[in-house]
Amino acid sequence: MNAGHAYRGRFAPSPTGPLHEGSLVAALASWLDARAHGGRWLVRIEDVDLARCRPGLDRVILDQLARCGLVPDEPPLWQSTREPLYAQALERLLAADLAYPCACTRKDIDTALAARGVSHQRHGERVYPGTCRGGLNGRAVRSWRLRIGGDAALVHWTDRRLGPQQQDVAREVGDFVLRRIEAKGIGTTYQLAVVVDDAAQGITHVVRGEDLADNTPRQILLQRALALPTLSYLHTPLVLATDGQKLSKQTGAKALDLSDPLAALQAAAALLGLPALPAPTLADWLAAAVRAWPWRPA
Ligand code: GLU
Repeated sequence: MNAGHAYRGRFAPSPTGPLHEGSLVAALASWLDARAHGGRWLVRIEDVDLARCRPGLDRVILDQLARCGLVPDEPPLWQSTREPLYAQALERLLAADLAYPCACTRKDIDTALAARGVSHQRHGERVYPGTCRGGLNGRAVRSWRLRIGGDAALVHWTDRRLGPQQQDVAREVGDFVLRRIEAKGIGTTYQLAVVVDDAAQGITHVVRGEDLADNTPRQILLQRALALPTLSYLHTPLVLATDGQKLSKQTGAKALDLSDPLAALQAAAALLGLPALPAPTLADWLAAAVRAWPWRPA
C-alpha cells in the first residue's frame, strides 16, 4: 500500500485511570485509521505528570487494549523515561530565545491580570500577561514558557473531521509553560512532551479525542519553534455523560466492562459512525471495521 507506506499513528493514554468508554473510542479510532492507511500503530504511555498517574495503570491499559485485539506494532514508550529529551528541547528553545524562564506564581499572574483590568474566571485558562518576558528581575525561576510571537501566533489547521480551524494562541492562551520546577524535580508539560515524542517516534497522524483539539495550535507552534514537521490531525467525537459533560473519571466514567470485548468495541464503533458489522470473531470484526472506516485514504 504505497500511499500509506509512511503512516505512523499512536494512542497516547495517561495512566491516571483504566480505559473507559471514551478512551476506547480514541484507541479504536487511532488503530483503525492506522490499519486503513496500511500504517503502523504505536502506544505511548503519557506518564509525565507523576502526581496524577497511578502505578500499575499502564499495564492495566495495555492489557485492556490487548483484550480488544489492539496490540501495538512496536514496544510501548513511557514518557517518564524521556526527561533528558525534553530538557534538550527546552535548551534549544532557550538558546534561540523562543522560550524564557518565568518566576510567576498563579497569584502573581492573577495580580498582574487584575492590574490590567482582566478578571480571571475561576476555571478558565489564564492568559499569561508576559511579566517575565524581559527577565526575572532577580526572582527565582519556577517554570519556562514558550515565547509566542504576534503574527505567528495565529494558527490555521484543518482537522480531518472538524474541518478548518483557527486559534490566536497569543490572545487565547498566551506564553504557555513547557517545563516547571516541582517538589520532586523538574516536570515537563503535556504540550512539550507530546510534541517531542510525536516527532521522535516519527508520528505522521494524530487521532485522539475532541477534548484535545484546542491543544493542537499550541502543539503546531511548538513544532514550528523546534523545526519539526506539522502532523495530520483527526479529533474523534466524545462520549458524553448523561448530563452532557465530557466522560472522564471526574464525571464518574466507569472502567470498561471487558467481559465481552467485542460488545465494547461495537459500542465505540457506533459512536464513530460505523455501521453494525458481521462479527463471528473479534478478529473478523476488526477486519470489517477497517474496511468500513469512514476516514479512509482517498
Ligand atoms: N495523554 C493524553 C490524554 O490521555 C492524550 C495525548 C494525545 O493524544 O495527544 O488525554
